[in-house]
Amino acid sequence: MASPTTENLSAVKTRLRASFLAQLPPRIEQCRNSLARLSSGAEGQEELQRLHLLFHTIKGSGASFGFAVIAEIAQHGEMVLREILDHHQPVTDELLGVLHQQLQTLEAAQAQDASPGLTEEPNFALPMHIEQAAIDRDQRFVYLCDDDPDQVNQLASQLGCFGYRIVPFTALSDLRQALQGHPLPAAIIMDIMFPEGATAGADLLLELRGQFKQPLPTIFMSSRNDFQMRLNSVKAGGNAFCPKPVNAAEMVESLDYLTNRTPPEPFNILIVDDDPDISRLHASILESAGMTCQVVNVPEQVLEVLEHFRADLVLMDLYMPHCSGLELASLLRQIPGFVSLPIIYVSSETNEARQFKALEVGADGFLVKPISSGRMIEEVRLRAERMRTLRSLMIRDSLTGLFNHNTILQFLELAVAAARRNQCSLCFAMIDVDFFKKVNDQYGHAAGDQVLMALSRTLRLRLRESDLVGRYGGEEFAVVLTDSTLQGAKEMLEQLRLDFSRVQFYAEGQEFHCTFSAGIAEFPTCADSRQLAEVADRALYRAKHEGRNRVALMCVENQEPLTNPSS
Ligand code: GH3
Ligand code: MG
Ligand code: MG
Repeated sequence: MASPTTENLSAVKTRLRASFLAQLPPRIEQCRNSLARLSSGAEGQEELQRLHLLFHTIKGSGASFGFAVIAEIAQHGEMVLREILDHHQPVTDELLGVLHQQLQTLEAAQAQDASPGLTEEPNFALPMHIEQAAIDRDQRFVYLCDDDPDQVNQLASQLGCFGYRIVPFTALSDLRQALQGHPLPAAIIMDIMFPEGATAGADLLLELRGQFKQPLPTIFMSSRNDFQMRLNSVKAGGNAFCPKPVNAAEMVESLDYLTNRTPPEPFNILIVDDDPDISRLHASILESAGMTCQVVNVPEQVLEVLEHFRADLVLMDLYMPHCSGLELASLLRQIPGFVSLPIIYVSSETNEARQFKALEVGADGFLVKPISSGRMIEEVRLRAERMRTLRSLMIRDSLTGLFNHNTILQFLELAVAAARRNQCSLCFAMIDVDFFKKVNDQYGHAAGDQVLMALSRTLRLRLRESDLVGRYGGEEFAVVLTDSTLQGAKEMLEQLRLDFSRVQFYAEGQEFHCTFSAGIAEFPTCADSRQLAEVADRALYRAKHEGRNRVALMCVENQEPLTNPSS
């Protein structure tokens, strides 16, 4: 997976180098014209700005594409002009002569710098972990080994409720054979004591571990919960330890964590640069690391693009005609929705005072061109990741990790708009745990929390990727089922209801079960998100009223309620 994108990036790089060289003569010509206008005494300040931007662009792009000599000469010209602009110096014939000289040197250098000897660009290797991410393995298969068949069956059915596919083993010899085959499971759950010995389970994995090509996440379980057993587990490479009787919800939490069930969504990066080649280069670099990029070459279009492109970060050029990066960053910071959007400048500006000024408006970083691909990827990834974490704290519920009340309603609104555009149906379901107050009263608040976490996992893992799940309130959940009919939604929720009712919870030495009731409403029968929420809530109320542990469908106007007779 990594190699095609790498090739792709080098190809882009070669194309862009050629493009830079092709653009150089017209750019030099533009500089000449600008100089001629200045010599004829035309209006100074604006013409100087234009010429400065030209030199600056040649310097920045030249450096980025590996033309060091051209970049250096252009930088001289840029510095001369910067001085004149900053100190409002008069444009003397002497200065014009110097600039003419720079242009001539630049022209001479272009033939030389384009020689093949200089075209190699080092530092184009992708960071290792990007290739790591491509490791393909079935995320759902889990091996479970315990000599007690009852334990194996019970735990297998429990974990099955959470969407894991358990391959059971009761003999160490069978497991040994399976582990020597391929592919490896996503994780292994292993008892420690076997008829073969008090630590036979741990010993086997310790022995085999060296032969595995990839790490094998391992959870040990044991009826002995003392230091020595836990140490045995750690020595054998265990990542987690569950005392028996096993708490399925806790084990699922470990499994989720160890098998990283949800692949991270790619970062969305907005690239603003007036130079199409530079922006394309930066996009290719970031895309090679799996990020999604949107390029904007005209700053005026940024707001429009941000309307539908949910950027995690903006990579911004500092010098652009009509609107500088500094101005654009200030403009974005004045819009409430973009106050925390990370902004990183990419510029060949090396003057620290000017860099600082650009950062002062609330930007997050400054990358100086030329920058190696690896460094750019890392800088962007770090900041985008932090943004994700912060945003996630804002929109997610801390106990369950699901979207919070406001966020799920916002998503419902977006989903309805999309369904309306695409003329398809959509369902909204409200779910409420039955007699939850009793769970808290009888087994304690912590046990209640465990039930909520288990339900949220069941919902998250079992629904399709396109479905959205939120915690609506205390023990109420909301689900947006995109492109789904009432009947399809009902079947899905019925299955979830059954699975959840089979999950065993343990608290205070007792085993208990929980159920939920659900109400479903459908778009376009319900015309908007407000109506969907209202009607789903009414259906839920009816499900409760008719005995709980059931799924009720909306009834609109004079249509009769269509509840499902309890099973
Ligand atoms: P019904 O079947 O009619 O829904 O009955 P119920 O007991 O589930 O409903 P009720 O609304 O009377 O009680 C909900 C309880 O949920 C009350 C509240 O203390 C508890 N609860 C709300 N949020 C949490 C939470 O985060 N953790 C725990 N453990 N309990 C919570
Ligand atoms: Mg309830
Ligand atoms: Mg309630």
